[in-house]
Amino acid sequence: MFKWPKRGDDVTGTEAFRDIGDLKGQVAVISGSTSGIGLAMARGIAARGGDVVLNGLGDPSEIERTRSELEASCGVRVRYHAANMMRGDEVADMVAYGRHELGRVDILINNAGVQHVEAVEKFPSDKWEQIIAINLSSTFYATRAAIPIMKAQGRGRIVNIASAHGLVASPFKSAYVAAKHGVIGFTKTVALEVARDGITCNAICPGYVETPLVQSQIADQARARGISKEKVVEDVILAAQPTKQFVTTDQLVGMMLYLVSDLGASANGASFAIDGGWTAQ
Ligand code: NAD
Repeated sequence: MFKWPKRGDDVTGTEAFRDIGDLKGQVAVISGSTSGIGLAMARGIAARGGDVVLNGLGDPSEIERTRSELEASCGVRVRYHAANMMRGDEVADMVAYGRHELGRVDILINNAGVQHVEAVEKFPSDKWEQIIAINLSSTFYATRAAIPIMKAQGRGRIVNIASAHGLVASPFKSAYVAAKHGVIGFTKTVALEVARDGITCNAICPGYVETPLVQSQIADQARARGISKEKVVEDVILAAQPTKQFVTTDQLVGMMLYLVSDLGASANGASFAIDGGWTAQ
């Protein structure tokens, strides 16, 4: 019977499993990591020994509390950069800051994202521009800045947090769906360009995760439809998700830890749906 290898097992083929998830000495830059999925990614990396550059909006004293708590509890270096993901120059500066402050950039997680739900004929131009800038263009600016650093190191891992909406559409989310489909196309292109440089570029496509981004949608939908939040979760939000369960941030962190490990070296240009079966339909 197959036995999962344990540390110290002397069995051919198990060597590669020993260090999976060990990120000591590595540096990760994570956009939009003051909340939700990005913050979970930061915690996951710090818990495995990696240093982290946090980024995102929020109350400065709360961000500082998160930063220092993460640093103390995990014994790693954690910094914060306030780049606005709507500004390409600030995005590039965040990546440069990671290299300057912490010495390297091994992992880039392009995670920052926002949503706006409205029929396309009424969709406000400023919301369209904002979603494309934060959800798509910031991924380009950060990746462009990180690749030369990763090439010089001979290794790098780029993980783009796309969405099930990068693979399929839903009505009233035109900008978000367009941006997330764009992220997947960008992921594939970058993967091909860096394939010989020890760098990989992949996308994770979560289904619904109960973060502030989704909690506000639940509240909006409940108001718009005049039904309870519980009913919105059951009938609207999780309608497309066959498991009828939210995806958890830990489950996404698990996928990311695989992708950034040495075992993830052949996963390149791929989109990994972690969506309870949503996009299998
Ligand atoms: P969230 O609202 O909890 O977090 C979003 C993060 O992005 C926050 O840290 C916020 O401060 C940051 N951010 C927003 N605008 C910014 C700006 N202009 N500059 C810098 N940072 C900015 O949302 P989340 O659910 O954790 O979403 C994270 C990513 O996961 C997004 O790309 C989202 O599209 C994607 N996603 C979420 C779900 C879900 O169900 N929650 C599903 C699929 C994909």
